[in-house]
Amino acid sequence: MSPRAIHNFSAGPAMLPKAVLERAQAELVDWQGRGISVMEMSHRGADFTAIAEKATNNLKELLDVPDGYSVLFLQGGATLQFSMAVLNLAKQDSIADYVVTGSWGRKAHAEARRFCEARIAALTQRPSEPIPDVSQWSISPEAAFVHYTPNETIDGVEFHDVPDIPPSIPLVADFSSSILSRPVDVSRFGLIYAGAQKNIGPAGLTVVIIRDDLLSEVRSGVPDLMTYRVHAASGSMKNTPPTFAWYLAGLVFEWLIEQGGLAAMAIRNQEKAERLYRALDQSDFYTAPVPSTCRSRMNVVFRLVDADLESTFLQEAEGAGLMALKGHRSVGGIRASLYNAMPLAGVEALVEFLGAFEARYG
Ligand code: PMP
Repeated sequence: MSPRAIHNFSAGPAMLPKAVLERAQAELVDWQGRGISVMEMSHRGADFTAIAEKATNNLKELLDVPDGYSVLFLQGGATLQFSMAVLNLAKQDSIADYVVTGSWGRKAHAEARRFCEARIAALTQRPSEPIPDVSQWSISPEAAFVHYTPNETIDGVEFHDVPDIPPSIPLVADFSSSILSRPVDVSRFGLIYAGAQKNIGPAGLTVVIIRDDLLSEVRSGVPDLMTYRVHAASGSMKNTPPTFAWYLAGLVFEWLIEQGGLAAMAIRNQEKAERLYRALDQSDFYTAPVPSTCRSRMNVVFRLVDADLESTFLQEAEGAGLMALKGHRSVGGIRASLYNAMPLAGVEALVEFLGAFEARYG
């Protein structure tokens, strides 16, 4: 009997492409005939340097990163970027404008307030509110930057376009849960950051893409390891980087290139999300609260109209091999994360389960 198919809808750390895991497994003990694993190599040796360079170049190719940007592989998660971005781009008395459309943006703003005059330029209070048009944002002309969260992982709210802010103000984006899900015009941004554990690779790695004119130091007293200029000058090797996570990210980038790059991923991700939202919208048993203009393609958040049935739903879903569908502990409900590695078959299995569960309990 073949093992039952498991589909992992975790929001992060999330599933990785099976082909990537199998390749890592094949190379684990003996990387390319060297007799040792990537984990056991010097980060400054020729082999790891080649692995790191290839990963960096493949990421630049995938995102079509223009000249004049540095790509960094750091630690500390996206959460460290909440303070690091401020400490590198804003003085203590600078204004920074935050667009808060969910839980992570709120956290980023709260952290920034410790280090500069962080204002709210636009705010939504709940996922069912549409994102206000950029013309309604109150952006300070002298802002050091404008920060937003292109995809709110917990709330399932996603910007479908890059907001058009005055080009003189650097746009800073927490792309943790939607980087590499479709093409993006990097030239529109001053700074992009993303924790790896959704669309990049395993936890422990954070990708930063920064426009080089923002690498100068604007305040003193910032630790070296929190200074972008220091990481850029050392090729992200000021100290020992998370080598194995960087290598695995490199395997994911190769896999993405083989799949046809981000244009191909965008089509697939659109198809997966549409399939699921369509099933939810057609039913009176389930409800998806986010307006269609800002529904996330990566994190599909929904509820059962009878919320008392949600724990049974989750239990039976697990029994059917549909794992990690529980909404974030702060909001409850159901959340299906459909990152790049989730195949259409996983979404089809979930849609089938939605129908069967409704037939039993509806
Ligand atoms: N921002 C967003 C959009 C996220 O989804 C997450 C993690 N789920 C974070 C920030 C925090 O990331 P980390 O745990 O890597 O610090």
